[in-house]
Amino acid sequence: MDTAFFNRFFSAAPPEVDRESIWRAWQALPPAYVIEKRRPPVPVWARRGLAESGPEAWAALSATVAQTDAAKPYCIYIHLPFCASKCTFCDCYSFRLSQHVEREVDAYLARLEQEIALWSRLPGLAQRPVSTVHLGGGTPTFLGARALARLTGSLRAHFAVGAQTEWALESTSSELDAAMFDALREGGFTRLHVGVQSLEAAARHAIGRREPAAGVLDKLAQALALGWVVSVDLIYGLPSQTLVGLLGDLQTLAAAKVDGLSLYELQVSPRNRVFAERHGRTGAEARWGNYLLLQAASQKLAALGYRKTLFTHFAGARDHDVYFRFPERGEDCLALGTIADGVFGDYHYRHPEYALYQRSVSATFPGLQGGLRRTPQENQLRPLEIALLSARPAPEVFVAQLGREQAQALLEAWQAGALLEPRLAGAWALTANGSWFAGEMLAHLATGA
Ligand code: SF4
Repeated sequence: MDTAFFNRFFSAAPPEVDRESIWRAWQALPPAYVIEKRRPPVPVWARRGLAESGPEAWAALSATVAQTDAAKPYCIYIHLPFCASKCTFCDCYSFRLSQHVEREVDAYLARLEQEIALWSRLPGLAQRPVSTVHLGGGTPTFLGARALARLTGSLRAHFAVGAQTEWALESTSSELDAAMFDALREGGFTRLHVGVQSLEAAARHAIGRREPAAGVLDKLAQALALGWVVSVDLIYGLPSQTLVGLLGDLQTLAAAKVDGLSLYELQVSPRNRVFAERHGRTGAEARWGNYLLLQAASQKLAALGYRKTLFTHFAGARDHDVYFRFPERGEDCLALGTIADGVFGDYHYRHPEYALYQRSVSATFPGLQGGLRRTPQENQLRPLEIALLSARPAPEVFVAQLGREQAQALLEAWQAGALLEPRLAGAWALTANGSWFAGEMLAHLATGA
């Protein structure tokens, strides 16, 4: 990034933006941390591939689950890939389902039910307490009330979901009508993640969102009035989005009393490259602008009283972010459905894409693509990785894994790079620089480079 870009970007910034501290954070970055080359953190299976086949993974997982303490909680994630239309900006694994909707949904649910039954027969798993059930996608509410009830009923019949379990799902505001609110209430859901992306009219137009901001806010208010925890996903780096507009969105959403906000950079992948290129969102300047948006938005959210609880998430007092923080609690994750990836102990596994998933699940096999066990070195780094991504890394974790001298040198280097900052009572926090470069920090831990 050059100075001219920085000055131009902030030329019309509102006075609330502390340009000086953003300038200092940028200037402090180590030379190897190049803004436009930043890559997000990736899971272990994406770093070095799946080492074992699906059947081998299932055998390994069966043995691991059987050896686990029957009182140990775990969470459940289910991927529901369907959407009413495929948004051109979206890089999620999701697709439009426009024909034979009921038949496709039923066929997918039948596979999920087979998976659920198989996993529940693993020794001890059906008795272990479930901390949260999280439905992600795609648009889980696209299933409709009948299919959602079928899915939640199957989960309740097979696993120890109870009063301690938080039921959460992702949706888009346009799907949240009165009938869907009723269906979710009957299903026991108490947490909603709404993919708002932006409230700015021009940005919403660019990404094809037809519902006006006022309609979105009305849906959020209805969900909050039900007593649910409501978290909002926003994307920064959208076409026509402005600094003033993004800060205004944060102000508006805080005034609406949303419980949490996740901030995601517009990720460019083969799924949305055409959109990103058409709108000029792939070059270095686009990434520089995104970095500065994150810096300013992080300042704003802190000023509004939200605390960072994950490198991408800011939480208010009621937001415990149960699903995203399962690694911090040392829990396992039972992931079900196409492309869903889970972990039991030190064994990670993943499911294949939709067509292969549909063909692979059977009465004796949950359709896994494959799996891998963490190496001793990956096990050693795991607590550090979890601590960093939690945004509040405790120095003791680094000392325990690296020894006092090496841990101190690393923390000092990251502090000098404005990637971490010390807080009161010995606590540390991931800065906006750290959120941007979390992937590079993890790579540094793994390779020392
Ligand atoms: S943004 Fe949401 S609704 Fe649009 S394709 Fe992606 S998951 Fe589906």
